[in-house]
Amino acid sequence: MNPYQKLLKKFREVMLIDSVSGILHWDLETYIPPRGVKQRSEQLALLRQLRHRLITSRKLSELLNQAEKYSIEESLDVTQKRNIYLIRKEQEEETKLPEELVAKIAQQQAITVTVWKKAKAACDWKRFEPELEKMLEFSKQRAVILRDVKDVATPYDALLDEFEPSMTSNQITQIFSQMRTSLIPLVNKCVEASKNVETNFLHQKIPIGIQQKITTNLVKFIGYDISSNEAGGRIDETEHPFTTGYYNDVRITLHYYEGNVASVIFATLHEGGHALYEQNINPNWQFQPIGTATSYGIHESQSRFIENIVGRSRDFWQYYLPHLNDLTSGIFAKVKLDDFIRAINRVKRSKIRIEADEVTYSLHIIIRFEIEQALFADKITVSELPDLWNSKYDEYLGVKIEHDSEGVMQDTHWASGLFGYFPSYALGNIYGGQLLAAMENDLPDWRSQIAAGNIQSIKQWLIEKVHYNARLYDPADLIYQITGKQPSSNPFLTYLQNKYSLLFGF
Ligand code: ZN
Repeated sequence: MNPYQKLLKKFREVMLIDSVSGILHWDLETYIPPRGVKQRSEQLALLRQLRHRLITSRKLSELLNQAEKYSIEESLDVTQKRNIYLIRKEQEEETKLPEELVAKIAQQQAITVTVWKKAKAACDWKRFEPELEKMLEFSKQRAVILRDVKDVATPYDALLDEFEPSMTSNQITQIFSQMRTSLIPLVNKCVEASKNVETNFLHQKIPIGIQQKITTNLVKFIGYDISSNEAGGRIDETEHPFTTGYYNDVRITLHYYEGNVASVIFATLHEGGHALYEQNINPNWQFQPIGTATSYGIHESQSRFIENIVGRSRDFWQYYLPHLNDLTSGIFAKVKLDDFIRAINRVKRSKIRIEADEVTYSLHIIIRFEIEQALFADKITVSELPDLWNSKYDEYLGVKIEHDSEGVMQDTHWASGLFGYFPSYALGNIYGGQLLAAMENDLPDWRSQIAAGNIQSIKQWLIEKVHYNARLYDPADLIYQITGKQPSSNPFLTYLQNKYSLLFGF
C-alpha cells in the first residue's frame, strides 16, 4: 500500500463511525422505546469521542503528512488530491477546537433544545432567551476559532463554510439581496392572483392505508426502491420527514395526515429526491471523503428539484392525476387538471417557514440570514430578536406575528446551535433554478417526457451532473462545472416568473 492508500484506509474508520451514528440517530427518531433514550445518548457520545480521537490521533497526522509528501512526489489525480485536502481540512478544524468547548456546546445544546420545546409550547420567549444567549455565546467562541483555522473573513463565514463550503457571507448577501428585491413584488402579484383558488378538494379525508399506497406508487415512479430484493431504501413514520444514510441503505421518513394528502405527496417527492442523491454517488468512492454530499444546499437542490420543479409542474400532474384518482377510488374525478395545479401551487403570505410555498419560502430564509449575520457581527443582542423578527416579517412578507411561537421560536436550528444552516435552504432553490436552465439545454423535451410518465432521462441527467460527482467540488464550483456560471438567483426568479404568471394569469 502506498501512503495515500494507507491514509484512506485509516480514514475509512471515521466514515464507518459516521454511518453507525447515522443509523443510531435514525433509530432514535423512529423505534427506540422511551427508556432507551438515555443509554442511546451515551452510545452516541462514545462514538463522537472515538471519532474525535481518531481524527486528532498522532497516527492519522503522520499518515496525512506522508500522503501529502507522496502527493507532491507522485502525481496524484484530482480525486485523490481532493480526498487528501478534505481530510486535512477536517483534521485541522477538529484539532484546533478545544475538547472542553465541544463538550460544553453539546451539553448546552441539550438544555437549550429542551427549554425551547417548553417555551415554544407556552409561548414564553423570556424562558428561552437566557439559554439561547448561552448557546450563542459558545457558538461565537467556536466560530472565532474556526475563522482562524479556515482563514475566512468573519466568524459567521466560518459557520457558513460548514454547510456550504467556501461560500462567503458577502457572496450570499449579494445573491439574497437581489433575490429579495425581485421576490417581494412577485409574492404580492401571486398572492393577489391566487387568493380565490379553491383548495377544499385537497383536504378530503383519505385513509392512511391508501395514502401509503400513494407513497409506494410515487417512490416507484422516481425509482427509489423500497420493495424488491435489491432494495436500498425504506419508509418509516416520524413527526417531521427526513432522509438518512447513503449508498446501499438510504431511508426516508414521512408523516401522514388524513385530511391533507398533498402534504405526504410532496414530502415523498422531497425526501425521495434527497435519497436518490445519496444512492447515486460514484460507487467507487464509498467511505472516502469525496463520497459524500457536497453541501446542504446542493442536497436541498436535489430534493426541491423533484418536489417542486418536477412534482408541482403541470406536466407531472397531467400524467399523475388520473393515477391519484384511481388510487383514491375516484375522489378526484371531478377535479380539473388546471384547478388541481393551481391548488397545489397557491401562494399565501405565511408565518411558518415549513408551511411556506415555493415563492415565499426564500424570503423566510433571507430574514434568518440577515438576523444571523447581525448577531455574529454583534450588531444586535438576543433580547432584540423578537422585535427584529416581527418587523422583518411585516416588511418582507406582509404578515403580523401575534406571538413568538409562530415567530422567532418556530425553528429548532438556533436552539440546536445550528447557526449558518438556514442559507442552504434558499441556496437549494437557487442552485435548482440554475440546474433547470442547464437541463433545458440538454433535454429540451423534458416536460413532454414527464407528461408521458417518464422521469428516466431527467433522473439520469441529475445523477450524471450532480449525484455522481458528490464532494469532488465545492458547491459553487460544481454549479460552475455544470452551468458555466457562478451561483445566481436569476434563473430561479425567471422560472418562478414564467411558471406563476402562466398559472395565475398576470
Ligand atoms: Zn430537504
